[in-house]
Amino acid sequence: MLGVDGVEVDLFERLPSPFGLVRAGVAPDHQDTKLVVDIFHEAFENPRFGCHLNVEVGREVTHEDLLAHHHAVIYAVGASKSHDLGIPGEELPGNEAAANFVAWYNGHPDHAGDQFDLSAERAVIVGNGNVALDVARILLLPHDHLAKTDIADHALEALANSNINEVVILGRRGPRNGAFSVGEFQALRFLPGIDVIVDSNDLDPHAGDDIETVMKLEVAREYAERKPSPGNKRIVFRFMTTPAEVVGEGRVQGLRVVHHGFDATGRLVPGAGHSEVIETSLILRSIGYQGSPVDGVPFDGDRCIIPNDRGRVLDHDGHPVQGVYVTGWIKRGPRGVIGTNRTCAEETVARLWEDFDDGRLSRDVQDRTALEELLRHRNAEPVDWSGWCSIDTAERKRGVDASRPRVKFVGVADMIEASKS
Ligand code: NAP
Repeated sequence: MLGVDGVEVDLFERLPSPFGLVRAGVAPDHQDTKLVVDIFHEAFENPRFGCHLNVEVGREVTHEDLLAHHHAVIYAVGASKSHDLGIPGEELPGNEAAANFVAWYNGHPDHAGDQFDLSAERAVIVGNGNVALDVARILLLPHDHLAKTDIADHALEALANSNINEVVILGRRGPRNGAFSVGEFQALRFLPGIDVIVDSNDLDPHAGDDIETVMKLEVAREYAERKPSPGNKRIVFRFMTTPAEVVGEGRVQGLRVVHHGFDATGRLVPGAGHSEVIETSLILRSIGYQGSPVDGVPFDGDRCIIPNDRGRVLDHDGHPVQGVYVTGWIKRGPRGVIGTNRTCAEETVARLWEDFDDGRLSRDVQDRTALEELLRHRNAEPVDWSGWCSIDTAERKRGVDASRPRVKFVGVADMIEASKS
């Protein structure tokens, strides 16, 4: 949008650091993926760009405030909560959201103080999407491998003392319908000191016609044919298996699961197999994220998204809310890789320009000076782009001696302090 002369863009973010899931979601052993943020530097240094980190909508500013100071407001607030499994025993300590584990190892301030029980030899992950694969790798990668990344210090230390040497990943369908992407599934074979185990009985009898399902089944077949190396850690894929009950006295001691089967035509038959308890003290449910409502903005509680038509926010009667837009996971649900968000944002911005061209965004709004005055009045402590650059520089400096890309600050106060240096 900044490419169009005269357009001013203000960005609001509740943390003193930008980049959402790139910083707090992308796994630390995928440093190259994080380089995507470099494409924003030029835009963020544009004088028509206003960066207001450490300002939360609903805390220092409201939705109405944003509308009073801007012709259009785009929500890109993501989806950070985890679904529940809806099975007995779920309240037991040791049954945790993978989303929280990811935020913990990535140093998100909300989860820096979380604790995970890594004392047993086995962890179980429910769901087999790319997040499950990220979590499995981080649980099992050797210390020297993780120590070269920007993983949070508290996680690096806890994982160095972890006893976990086996991670079981449960998928409720066959390998050809695994939620992981083929590339991520295939890349597991290169992990140092880690075997990938697939039971040949779990292989779907038919691959189907779709190239992706064919490739997933093919990779699973290759894993099933491999011989494990003695002494290696293990990622064990269990397919056609659903969780039925979290078991334990006072805390998680196991997960009861039910196996399914295939009929003669290759269709999945729910509950056709047996049931068993997998012993573990740590269950991480990685069954997708869900969005949360923003005060004053319509919300679809069933789908956990902001209701919209290709990015235009809709009210409860299905009419567009003038000047309000949405993009990313809070627009379409928690699906897609980083590149998907680019297409998604382009679609939303195209709607915004249509509305601008049709005169639907023309109304009087207050200027930037008034916005700064409002933030002062609300006792906000905004961190601007140069403040973030100071935090970034300080984190990178902290990493130099340890040959790490950065050592993250995991507390908001520390980040604000660093932003002033
Ligand atoms: P996801 O891909 O939607 O996977 C969710 C998994 O949970 C699926 O296996 C799903 O099974 C299972 N599931 C859902 N409800 C369940 C239930 N009640 N019981 C048992 N299993 C259940 O979600 P995600 O892994 O959180 O990933 C979110 C998005 O981020 C995805 O688009 C992913 O590709 C992306 N991402 C990408 C990367 C990367 O590119 N490296 C890394 C991380 C995340 P079904 O498939 O049978 O529904």
